[in-house]
Amino acid sequence: MNITCEVARDMAELYKADLLINKESIQQIRSHLKTCPSCREYYKAYDRHTTEQRSKNQPSFSDDMDEVQKRTYAILAKKMNHHRIMEIIGTSAAIGAGSIMLIIGLVMTSKSLHKNINKGAETL
Ligand SMILES: [Zn+2]
Repeated sequence: MNITCEVARDMAELYKADLLINKESIQQIRSHLKTCPSCREYYKAYDRHTTEQRSKNQPSFSDDMDEVQKRTYAILAKKMNHHRIMEIIGTSAAIGAGSIMLIIGLVMTSKSLHKNINKGAETL
């Protein structure tokens, strides 16, 4: 008894997953595949599909890992960025404060210089 293409293709999943317990069914599929090139192609495509799925599923696990790592890195990067931004703000604040102090100092010294010059002029 020959099975139809529909049945053969319908059983592809079971056949590939070794879920066909009935040896007659397996035999029927095998004999159908021998005589039916389109179903052979279908089974090959099914193989490709499942191996693709498998190779897709395996990295998908590490993809999840990557996702977690990415998230961790993102959080770290955010923290680092925050830290860096704070550092930059701190540095520029220090530089700003320093330059302000420098300006104040210059003004003070020039003022005191003026004062001294004025004093000198007064005493002269
Ligand atoms: Zn067929």
